[in-house]
Amino acid sequence: MGGSGQGRQVGATSTGGPGGQTDQIEHRGRGVRLLGAAGASAAAFHLLPSALALGTWTSLRRAPGGLCHWRLARAESGSDGERGRSIALTFDDGPSEDSTPHILDRLDRLGLSATFFCLGSMVDCSPELVGEIARRGHSIATHGYSHEPHLLRSPLWVTRDLAAAKGSMATAGAGVRWFRPPYGVVSGTTILASRRLGMGIVLWSAWGREWADPEPRAVAERICRRLEPGAIVLLHDADSTSPPGTWKVTFEALGHIADEIHARGLETVSVDALADSPA
Ligand SMILES: [Zn+2]
Repeated sequence: MGGSGQGRQVGATSTGGPGGQTDQIEHRGRGVRLLGAAGASAAAFHLLPSALALGTWTSLRRAPGGLCHWRLARAESGSDGERGRSIALTFDDGPSEDSTPHILDRLDRLGLSATFFCLGSMVDCSPELVGEIARRGHSIATHGYSHEPHLLRSPLWVTRDLAAAKGSMATAGAGVRWFRPPYGVVSGTTILASRRLGMGIVLWSAWGREWADPEPRAVAERICRRLEPGAIVLLHDADSTSPPGTWKVTFEALGHIADEIHARGLETVSVDALADSPA
C-alpha cells in the first residue's frame, strides 16, 4: 500500500523526464524544509520567552528591549551616587475578602507599601477591594484574568485573558500599567498582548514560596537572603491558587521581613518606580 502509492507518485512526477523529476523532488524538499523552519520559528516564538523566568536567578534588572523586569532600576539610586535603598513588595492572586483586608492592616502597622497584582476573576468578585488597596496608598497591577500558564494556552486565549483582566481592573476603577504572568511563564503572545494593552511585564527577584512552606520564619529568611536594593519581592495576599490558610503564613512572615527591611535601612516603593527608569 504505501509502496504502491509511492510508485504512482514518482510516476506522476517523471513526465518531465529525469531532470524534471529531480527538480520536483528538490522543490518538495525545500517545501518540507521551509515548513519545518516555520514550525520551529513558531515554536521558538512561543516557548523561548519562558526562559525569561531564569532572570530571577541572575543579577539582571531587566531583559534587553525591556521585555520584562526582575528588579527595580538603578534610577532609584540616591542623588549622591550611592545605590538606592528601595525595594518593591508585591502581592499576587488577590484580592480576597477573606485575606486582603488583613494583609492591608498588617502593612499599615509595619509601615510598608506594596503593589498588588490582582486577578481579574478575583476583582470581579470583590471590586471594592481595589479601591481599598489604593486608598491605603498601595499600587494596583494585574496578574491576568484567570490563573493559567500561558505556554499551555493558545495565543487567542492569552490575548483575551489579558484584555479581560484589564477590563475588570478598569471597571473597578484602576488603570494598570504592569502585568505579572501566572507562574512567571512568558510566551511570545504574553509579550505582544501585554505591549498592545500598554502593560510592562514584571517578574521578581525574591520569593517566599509560602504556598509550599508553612513556616513563616523560613519564608521570611528565604526572602531576606535576596533582599538587596532594587529587589522585587513576590508574596501572596490570597489563597486562590494556594492551599487554604497560606495567606496566614504571609501575614506572619511580613513581621520578620519588615524587621529586616528596617534594620538594613531599606524602603518599600511601588512597582511604578520602574516607569521612569533608564534603559
Ligand atoms: Zn499567581
